[in-house]
Amino acid sequence: MNVPIARTSLLESEIQSVMEPLRSGWLVQGPKVREFEEKWSNFTGAKHSIAVTSCTTGLHLSLAALGVQPGNEVIVPAFTWISTANVVEHLGANVVFCDIDLDTFNIDINKLASLVTSKTKAILPVHLFGMAADVAPINAFAQAHKLWVVEDAACGFGSRYHGQHVGTLGHAGAFSFHPRKAITTGEGGMITTQDDDLAAKLRRLRDHGAAMSDLQRHLGARPYLLADHPEAGYNQRMTDLQAALGSAQMDRATSIVQERKRLANRYDEAFEKLSWLRTPVHLNGFEHGYQSYPCMFQPKSIAQIDIARINEKRNSWMDQLQQAGISTRPATHAVHMLTFYQEKYKLKPEDFPNAYRANDCSISLPLFHGMTVAEQDYVIERVVESAI
Ligand SMILES: *Cc1c(COP(=O)(O)O)cnc(C)c1O
Repeated sequence: MNVPIARTSLLESEIQSVMEPLRSGWLVQGPKVREFEEKWSNFTGAKHSIAVTSCTTGLHLSLAALGVQPGNEVIVPAFTWISTANVVEHLGANVVFCDIDLDTFNIDINKLASLVTSKTKAILPVHLFGMAADVAPINAFAQAHKLWVVEDAACGFGSRYHGQHVGTLGHAGAFSFHPRKAITTGEGGMITTQDDDLAAKLRRLRDHGAAMSDLQRHLGARPYLLADHPEAGYNQRMTDLQAALGSAQMDRATSIVQERKRLANRYDEAFEKLSWLRTPVHLNGFEHGYQSYPCMFQPKSIAQIDIARINEKRNSWMDQLQQAGISTRPATHAVHMLTFYQEKYKLKPEDFPNAYRANDCSISLPLFHGMTVAEQDYVIERVVESAI
């Protein structure tokens, strides 16, 4: 049997939904985008949802709208997808990495105080793999130091923090609709914010800085009226084909989240007795959305000098699973160990020891809605029977 790490699972009606904008002829930034945004706001409780081309462009746009510029510093967790850091570089600002808490894979709030300087402008907490970052102390810290908080909620669909959906907790948040994420539009992203002025600015910036939306202009009476462009914006508009696909999936948003949770809980129970595998933690007030199922491979406690050896063992275990047809991946990468950041900021792996451990010793197991019982049973059986 072959079990992929993730598999896109669309209903026939969702596939068909793409035909509607094709037939109507309204292909971009039209009624389907508006509809998808409304459903997203309803599901997350966000006051404003602004569809864009990806989570990465959404993060970039949010930082740009908040005025991040050359000379500024932005605090970013060292263990995350590289684009969380890249968007800071794109604006000419500098990344300041923060180590993570290994229990949650999220930013270690106890490290923030040692990283803040007079140049710090924002914190970019990530809700990694669907586990919310501990936002309340981050917000309190940000308020005390007059910093913006932009949430990387790429994996945050269905993730709640004390009942509140992620993406609604900071000044802005950005979600991803890449096929590895629970809701997919191929490529695509959604910015959420509770702030009216910021939302208006984000809507302008995604559409070349236009003061009037395409929809308003199209429906307006005066054909000679062109929009003014008070700022030099970007083109980060979502197509209506993508929005139709996203909007159709939102009709079963709750059941998608429930199914992913059910699969994760089955893994939790099956692996409870494996001393060498640490499965995702359960914390009061944190509702995991399970974008993926990230574990730590720890046949013994991971002292720094043992990381290389444990990494070798993990890799040979991943090879074993691959030979059995089961795809696994390291949960993600430690960005400070990637060439660009390592060279620009002269960083060593051990500068962020927990990100280093997670980089070398983590493993994500297959988890996706649409996974069959037979597929999951097969993964469970092979993992439990592994010779470690
Ligand atoms: C997937 C992901 C991104 C990038 O999302 P795109 O929509 O592909 O740009 C950013 N951050 C994290 C944590 C992610 O998992």
